[in-house]
Amino acid sequence: MDREVEDDLPSYCPDWIASEPFLKKAFDFADRLHRGQLRASGEPYIMHPIAVAGLLRDLGGSNALIAAGLLHDILEDTDTTPEQLEAEFGVEVTRLVQGVTKLSKFNFGSKTERQAENFRRMFMAMAQDFRVIVVKLADRLHNMRTLHYLPPAKQQAIARETMEIFAPLANRLGIGQFKWELEDLAFKYLEPEQYRRIQSLVADTRAKREEQINAVVQALKERLDRLGLTHASVYGRPKHLYGIYSKMLRQGKGYEEIYDVLAVRIITETIDECYRALAVVHDAYKPIPGRFKDYIALPKANRYQSLHTTIVLPTGQPIEVQIRTQEMHQIAEYGVAAHWKYKESTNGMMPDERFVWLRQLVEWQKEYKDDQEYLESVKEDLFDSEVYVFSPKGDVYQLPRGATPVDFAYRVHTELGNHCCGAIVNQKMVPLNTELQNGDIVMILRNNNAHPSLDWINFVATNSAKHRIRQWFKRYHREENIARGTSLLEKELGKNGLEALLRSEQMLKIAERCNYHSVDDLLAALGYGEISVLSVVNKLREHPAQQSLKLPSSPTAPSKTPIVGLEGLLHHIASCCKPLPGEPIIGVVTQGSNRGISIHHQDCVNLKNVPPDRLVPIRWSECQNKQTIYPVDIEVTAIDRVGVMKDVLARVADNKVNVRNASVDTAPGQAAVIKLTIDITDRAQFEKVCSQIQKMSDVLSVRRVIKDNSARV
Ligand code: MN
Repeated sequence: MDREVEDDLPSYCPDWIASEPFLKKAFDFADRLHRGQLRASGEPYIMHPIAVAGLLRDLGGSNALIAAGLLHDILEDTDTTPEQLEAEFGVEVTRLVQGVTKLSKFNFGSKTERQAENFRRMFMAMAQDFRVIVVKLADRLHNMRTLHYLPPAKQQAIARETMEIFAPLANRLGIGQFKWELEDLAFKYLEPEQYRRIQSLVADTRAKREEQINAVVQALKERLDRLGLTHASVYGRPKHLYGIYSKMLRQGKGYEEIYDVLAVRIITETIDECYRALAVVHDAYKPIPGRFKDYIALPKANRYQSLHTTIVLPTGQPIEVQIRTQEMHQIAEYGVAAHWKYKESTNGMMPDERFVWLRQLVEWQKEYKDDQEYLESVKEDLFDSEVYVFSPKGDVYQLPRGATPVDFAYRVHTELGNHCCGAIVNQKMVPLNTELQNGDIVMILRNNNAHPSLDWINFVATNSAKHRIRQWFKRYHREENIARGTSLLEKELGKNGLEALLRSEQMLKIAERCNYHSVDDLLAALGYGEISVLSVVNKLREHPAQQSLKLPSSPTAPSKTPIVGLEGLLHHIASCCKPLPGEPIIGVVTQGSNRGISIHHQDCVNLKNVPPDRLVPIRWSECQNKQTIYPVDIEVTAIDRVGVMKDVLARVADNKVNVRNASVDTAPGQAAVIKLTIDITDRAQFEKVCSQIQKMSDVLSVRRVIKDNSARV
């Protein structure tokens, strides 16, 4: 073992390094300087840089990047200066090694302000050259592979940091291979029992799983061949352990439901073939509705593309299927590093316009003489969709590009947005429409007398901020909005007869056609800009006033309701209790208006004020028209979190039920109250929707609302 002759090749120098002069030179340099140093494992230190360089080589990195991997610990662990390094290996390698060295001065531990500092450093490094992060990820991956040699306390700190920072970063860069292994290794140290349990469950079922997978792979392969998709490769896909575990947590399911989910991947040559293969899969097996995702048409932010679907075998066994082209597969595995490979293998020619970004990366590399300029353009492209900013406490928030302090305030909390009166970014006072940049520290000034301004809607970048600003105006500025809406109509139609028009049955019908309950609601919506004056005026022209308001009027939406005993009489569903077909009802003769009989739920609170002589017994007819819709008010109480409203609405939409009106009330430390008016055809449908909303984990209660408006009965 004592071969100390300078030019002699040490036994641990891999051939692929020895045969490449530039790498051999970097190896000799690092080997000499690290000599005598040992890893915690007892191995010579140089084994670590060799492993890191090997990972970078697997990603298809250039010689400069691989050399940087060999030299990455030189500046930190030895007396070498950057000048010496530059003299030997040039400016590119030196810059990469310096970048990694700066990053390595991390503070372990999860104190939020430290974590923020870590992230900031990471982004700064990324801004200079994202390859620094790739080297750092390779460094971390090898350290994680050898973590068992360190004392337990250090294992925990490093594993936690890996899970919180490095695995997400690998994901952001799209380097799936690194992400999966980093997650699994961190999982092993952070949750050793869970890890071992899932590991043994997976091992126990391996034989059966492989048998099932092979049968499916065989069947799909034959069908694809028959259709001429002979180049498509089909194979079982191993699922990584942390993926199984986090799925279990996310979906609240047991091991049995998750661990035996099988996974198959189909790799095709062209995008067209992806969709043809999908048709084959759906033809061969029954797909599970709602599980199909088209990430080809809508790529993920990290450029991931694939078709995802889940099918069921005749045995009831579900199988996840991913379909993607070879190029998409490369990007899924290697992320930003994928273009290094493509540069060599395809001369920069990409098969589809969706790969413009990738083609550009490759072409820029040819065009750009200046490394720095090239990396700038890559960086722009990589982070065009998101910015990461910090609260003064160091919490990280991810926002879309173009987001402003107002978006940030609403993301933190609705109330902070509603009372936001100024913003300090990086310790400087800035206008509220300032575009936030990566790494900004944002502090929102709050004043309980302050409130949103309508022009915020013009500059906020998130839909949730827009929505909440609108909600605020709906709730707190109703009178002003009605006045503003009225004056907008007045400008368009003139003052003459406007008041009469606003009180007319015709106007109420227009309001209903626009999905509002009353003319005031319509005017308020005009006032805060939810609906345009033009569309109201057009509707007025399409539906001119009836010649008279004589009874019975021609059938309108409410009077179509088939209710026994009321033929020829004008009637409507009471707006306070909105009874549904199937529920016990009673009629009330209305006075002093032209609305005829009002149909109430027999339990309606407002009936107690009605004199008995105005009550008429009625019942729903047998030949009920399913097409008639009834608006029903419900109130959902839910744990306040971003997106809870959207999720409730999605649940309603899943049932193909229309939402007329939706609003959410939130206050700090209190549950959110979501008020909905939904269009329902019968009682069974109503009960189904309610029970599905009730099942959502954030939902505390769902109740039907009956308005106490006895004065109007
Ligand atoms: Mn290292």
